[in-house]
Amino acid sequence: MENFDIAIIGGGHAGTEATWIASQFGLKVLLLTSPDSGIASAPCNPAIGGVGKGQVVRELDALGGLMGRLADMSGIQFRILNESKGYAVQSTRAQIDKDLYSINAEEVLSKVTNLNIVRDMVLGIEKENDSFVIKTKKSGVFQSKKLIVTTGTFLNGKLHTGEEQVAGGRVGCEKSVALSELLSMVKVLPKRFKTGTPPRLNIATIDFTKMEEQASDPAARNFHLMNTYSNREVRQISCYLTKTNSDTLGVIRQNKERSPIFNGQIAGVGPRYCPSIEDKAFRYQEKDVHHVFVEPEGLESNSVYPNGCSTSLPKDVQETFIRSIEGLENAEILVHGYAVEYDVVDTSELSLTFEYKNVPGLYFAGQVNGTSGYEEAAGQGFIAGSNAALSFLGKEPLVLDRRESYIGVMVEDLVSNLRDEPYRLFTARSENRLYIREDNTALRMLPYRRQFGLNSDLDLFLEDFLEQYDLLSQIIEERYFYKTSDEDRNYFIERGYGPLESNITLKELIKRPDLDPVKVLEFETTTKGLRFNFDVIRTVAIGSKYEGYINLKERE
Ligand SMILES: Cc1cc2nc3c(=O)[nH]c(=O)nc-3n(C[C@H](O)[C@H](O)[C@H](O)COP(=O)(O)OP(=O)(O)OC[C@H]3O[C@@H](n4cnc5c(N)ncnc54)[C@H](O)[C@@H]3O)c2cc1C
Repeated sequence: MENFDIAIIGGGHAGTEATWIASQFGLKVLLLTSPDSGIASAPCNPAIGGVGKGQVVRELDALGGLMGRLADMSGIQFRILNESKGYAVQSTRAQIDKDLYSINAEEVLSKVTNLNIVRDMVLGIEKENDSFVIKTKKSGVFQSKKLIVTTGTFLNGKLHTGEEQVAGGRVGCEKSVALSELLSMVKVLPKRFKTGTPPRLNIATIDFTKMEEQASDPAARNFHLMNTYSNREVRQISCYLTKTNSDTLGVIRQNKERSPIFNGQIAGVGPRYCPSIEDKAFRYQEKDVHHVFVEPEGLESNSVYPNGCSTSLPKDVQETFIRSIEGLENAEILVHGYAVEYDVVDTSELSLTFEYKNVPGLYFAGQVNGTSGYEEAAGQGFIAGSNAALSFLGKEPLVLDRRESYIGVMVEDLVSNLRDEPYRLFTARSENRLYIREDNTALRMLPYRRQFGLNSDLDLFLEDFLEQYDLLSQIIEERYFYKTSDEDRNYFIERGYGPLESNITLKELIKRPDLDPVKVLEFETTTKGLRFNFDVIRTVAIGSKYEGYINLKERE
């Protein structure tokens, strides 16, 4: 029986981050994951980031996580979401080549010398003294001091497509045992949760000329802080936008009794903020038009993902409603949509480190904690993985303050409430969203990252970022424009900065309501020969603009 310091069960997004960060501390790490799903594979929409989630990816990145790097390595279309709204709620989203993402994740992990990856199903776990004994289907028994469970939707999973029901955690994959069988020592939430996915369509059968093209945005910033601003690592391609109509929703409404979520076949609760197309049909009776984003699953893939059409309706109904959508009249379905029901842990039994309070050394992260989404899973995996390692080493735990990060918001929400529906992150979950933005992530995460004492290239980069930030913050307070100076007054007119009626600092100029703070500061630095990282410029400019509101929130 081989012994490990930390073992992780499940190589999804939670397991990948947990494995990566735990192994960075030089400990002996084991990742046990099922042979029939790839590492960090994306069973649903092939995209990373989005509103609230883009912030999580950047937080992870600045803490030393993997998701941002993998998204950059595999991103085939980048967008800035909420671009017309304020900087605080803008987020980056990258469409990914899902196979490439998984291949990249495997490659990165396979280079870690203190990590063993075993492709096998775990059948049971027991605690013996201060270790966990892990029984697998074919590879024997392993022992580990710390154990992180990240089994996603697989525990006691059941898939539904219309009347068809099969045991499984995801299409084409074996289900896992029930949570109570895997770990008799933990409390399972009495309610099961559910999620769903749309059918996948054959790209050759789609008429893209009838849809609105959405090209990759060269202005969108890469996720990894140390990557050049918007140099893409792979070829960029477009996504397309179409919409449902009264025929689409009519077909769905006529088939209500055949829908597993309405005829009682599915008892699990679905994610309120990621509704299925049948949820939309009945929740918004007066509305027939819903966006459908037609997204490629990869550069060479023949499969596209109609985002917005998640469904568990019978196959014939799926075929009819999909073909009623403009551009999809001849669409061939490669894989039908389905819903999955699964067991989840009662997260009110977890501490802020995701350690199960009554079973020291046992951690949970990801969808098994009742969340939905890759980024949420990855954020939790990082918290569990780093804390298992810090605890093993006898160091202070990593607890992110909810005032300083979305990951902190999520962790506190999860452990302080009894979950009654799948949890997703969005900006409104934070009381402090003017401060927890994408641009200032390096600054927000630096104190937490320092706690690890790892001294990698990332740590040097972050310390340099802070130095540049302090310097630029000082410059904007010290640089004055004088009302008595003809040169300054003319300069204001020429640049469209408005009147110069009193002496003002560059910081006060940035705060003027009708000016874009980033454009002003970028111009005022680069034209004066000052070289700053563009993220530093953004952090200083946007932070200055919102300073008053942020201070008010802080006092509240
Ligand atoms: C059908 C479906 C639809 C979804 N829809 C959406 C959506 O619309 N939007 C969204 O953001 N998210 C969606 N998700 C959720 C998203 O996929 C998850 O939130 C995310 O992948 C969870 O990551 P995870 O690491 O917790 O679990 P997973 O990615 O599920 O990974 C779990 C891993 O554990 C392994 N495993 C499980 N049991 C065992 C065992 N006993 N032994 C060994 N290995 C095991 C599995 O093989 C897998 O590799 C959907 C998921 C599914 C399955």
